[in-house]
Amino acid sequence: MKDISGSGGGGGRKQGAPSPCAACKLLRRRCAQDCVFAPYFPADEPQKFANVHKVFGASNVNKMLQELPVQHRGDAVSSMVYEANARVRDPVYGCVGAISSLQQQIDVLQAQLALAQAEVVHLRVRQNASLSSHGLSPASPSNSGSPSPKLMGSQPNKPIFEMDMSVDQGSFGETIWC
Ligand SMILES: [Zn+2]
Repeated sequence: MKDISGSGGGGGRKQGAPSPCAACKLLRRRCAQDCVFAPYFPADEPQKFANVHKVFGASNVNKMLQELPVQHRGDAVSSMVYEANARVRDPVYGCVGAISSLQQQIDVLQAQLALAQAEVVHLRVRQNASLSSHGLSPASPSNSGSPSPKLMGSQPNKPIFEMDMSVDQGSFGETIWC
C-alpha cells in the first residue's frame, strides 16, 4: 500500500476521509497527517486503542512507537494490543496467565509423551524377547534331543515336546516380565 500522492507518514489514512483515527478520536485531538497511531488504530476498531490506552497510556504508546523503526511498529502494536486485552480480562496475571497455563499444558503433555515413549520401548523389548524365545525354542529341543530331520519336519507328531516348550515359555515369561 504505497501512498503515491506524496503525504509521507499517513499510510493508514483513507484517502479523502478526514475522520480521525481511533486514538485521536478517543483522545479528542486532531488527527494529523503524520499521526503515529493512525496506521495501526483505524477508526472502525475503537476498542483496540481503548484497551491499549487503559493499560499503557497513550503517551507511552506514542513514545514506544516513535522509538521503533517503522517496519517494527505493526508487530509492537499487535503485541501491546494482545497484552492490553489480556490485562483487561485478567487484571492480576494478564498475558502471563495465558503463558503459564500453556506452559503447564506443555509440561503435562511432555510427561504423557515420555510415558508413552517408555511404554513403546517396553513393548518393543517385550516383543523382541518373545520373538527370540520363539525363535530359540524350536531350535533348542532339536539340538538337545538331536532327533532325525524327519522328526523335525513332522511337527504335529510331537505333542509332548510342544507341551513342554509352551510350559517353559510361560513360566519363563512370567518370572521375567510380571
Ligand atoms: Zn490519529
